[in-house]
Amino acid sequence: MKRTDYDVIVVGGGHAGCEAAHAAARLGVRVALITLRRNAIGVMSCNPAIGGLGKGHLVREIDALDGIMGRVADAAAIQYRLLNRRKGPAVQGPRAQSDRAVYRDTMQAVLAGTCCLEVLEGEVTDLWFEEGQIAGVVLGDGGRIIARSVVITTGTFLRGVVHIGDVKHSAGRMGEAPSVALAERFDSFGLPLGRLKTGTPPRLDGRTIAWDRLEEQPGDEDPVFFSFDTTSAALRQIPCGITHTTPETHEIIRENLSRSAMYGGHIDGVGPRYCPSIEDKIVRFADKSSHQIFLEPEGLSDHTVYPNGISTSLPEDVQASYVASIPGLEAAKILQPGYAIEYDYVDPRALRLDLSLKEVPGLYLAGQINGTTGYEEAAAQGLVAGLNAAHHALERDPITFSRTNSYIGVMVDDLTTRGVSEPYRMFTSRAEFRLSLRADNADQRLTPFGIDLGCVSPQRQRSFERKMTDLSATTERLKSLSWTPRELSKAGVKVNEDGQRRSAFDLLSYPDTSFDTLLDLETSLHDVTGDMRFQVSCDALYAQYMDRQKRDFEALQRQETERIPNGFDYGALKGLSSEIRGKLEAQQPETLAQAGRLEGMTPAALTVILAGLRRHARTKRAI
Ligand code: FAD
Repeated sequence: MKRTDYDVIVVGGGHAGCEAAHAAARLGVRVALITLRRNAIGVMSCNPAIGGLGKGHLVREIDALDGIMGRVADAAAIQYRLLNRRKGPAVQGPRAQSDRAVYRDTMQAVLAGTCCLEVLEGEVTDLWFEEGQIAGVVLGDGGRIIARSVVITTGTFLRGVVHIGDVKHSAGRMGEAPSVALAERFDSFGLPLGRLKTGTPPRLDGRTIAWDRLEEQPGDEDPVFFSFDTTSAALRQIPCGITHTTPETHEIIRENLSRSAMYGGHIDGVGPRYCPSIEDKIVRFADKSSHQIFLEPEGLSDHTVYPNGISTSLPEDVQASYVASIPGLEAAKILQPGYAIEYDYVDPRALRLDLSLKEVPGLYLAGQINGTTGYEEAAAQGLVAGLNAAHHALERDPITFSRTNSYIGVMVDDLTTRGVSEPYRMFTSRAEFRLSLRADNADQRLTPFGIDLGCVSPQRQRSFERKMTDLSATTERLKSLSWTPRELSKAGVKVNEDGQRRSAFDLLSYPDTSFDTLLDLETSLHDVTGDMRFQVSCDALYAQYMDRQKRDFEALQRQETERIPNGFDYGALKGLSSEIRGKLEAQQPETLAQAGRLEGMTPAALTVILAGLRRHARTKRAI
């Protein structure tokens, strides 16, 4: 091996970069995180919150692999809310509002305390290649830093342009310079680049809001934490306020639509449909006379308030007048105007499942640069890219995640197979196996994998193993306790009078029974802890669905293990339409499962490919 400065270089200190650098360092390699501003590491560019539907699952999965986002979010949480609490655990989403400054400072402290990880300040303007292989990066001052793998996580900075009405300027995000040289370098490689946009609302001075006239939204009394290791809230918990737009707000926005950067034709990039600006909402939902706004304090010692629901690219004077038309905000002072940002992204179909560029082994991309939106999506990709960059440096095989074991696997597969037509964000509906991929069991699904990889600390490993021993003893205990229908009926539990005994574990899957019901039947169960009661109840609730899903699950897993060699000759296969052949050649899927998800793919075409793969394997063996 050649001598290098580092094993892995991570470019960017946003959510993807922090997670990537920490993940690589957990595997014991030497890591440099290079970012534009050291003191902006871990900054939340938009909303001061982590988690939510689908996103909370990603944070739990990152935590299950001993990543940092969940722990840092717990350290900074000032209001926990479990979204979809009334629905089943599979679609519930842990969310917490964060103290923005505590989040940033904690992230910086965690990285500073990580062994083998060094933070360097500077702008990466170019990539460095030796003998056709990625070999490091070049800085704005011409300095060169050498490494075996490079991870790029530059977020919204690539040729970023900030828009406020018809005023625009180049920026990576408000107050920060864009990254132009690197974008031009990507262009010169012929990488498939596109343009996306996102927006943020004006920030308000909380001291000028009439809180006493607003509805209050408290956090949960029994908070659900992100990290499996967190046992209590670290900070004081505070409520948010709720207000609404009015017909007057809508009128002001409608009258000024042509002055909005987006509607005035100043922006070409596509925005996130699921996170629309207030202009978008007024146009798309023209029949609605009001939209809800959550007023989220940005910290315990910060007066800034984030009005969630009114992101905008309207001019500042229009922002001021529509804010003043909202109840409770009549005298609200705007501390920073809302704005939209347009930026370059790389078509993620140019990536492999390990997030390396197909054309450039050892060069990984993660985060918003891959067409996603959101801190959690960025961090989850950072984890994948960081682990893989370390593996590449160590000359080990790539690490991939499956749609059957994680939302991380679902996201990476969606991105690399289908690409994006708008900023991609995670939803539970994207996961076909969502009944098994729950936030509550992320550790059961992924921590053993993390232990095998070596990215889980011994302390985390011990606490996980203790939990699993308790869980299996509790499950066995519940399966061994059983009652006849008559016995159950006497205790007020109604089941079919079929003479069959029902175990305590079975009863937990019935809609009208809970762990409390079991306590009435068997008082000794009082010694089961609250956490264990919750976990075993979730496992029991979904046990029968898991059995039903098993066949689909195994079929997909078989297709995922059927790997398609690089440069596989689809032209030699008889029976493929030219349209499907063209897609396969352009996309170069890595597995049969990925091929199966290409648009227009048919079961017959998959059979042809499978037969071709078998022939290819036989010929290779014969040689
Ligand atoms: P970032 O967090 O942007 O981090 C990029 C990092 O790269 C920075 O540290 C930067 O300094 C560094 N960097 C860039 N270029 C270079 C270079 N050449 N050399 C060295 N370092 C470099 N998400 C939502 O879910 N909902 C929203 O409503 C939403 N709105 C947003 C509005 C705005 C205005 C912005 C800017 C973002 C918004 N986001 C939103 C997105 C969210 O902030 C990002 O998804 C997330 O921060 C992406 O993380 P990242 O790590 O990919 O990039």
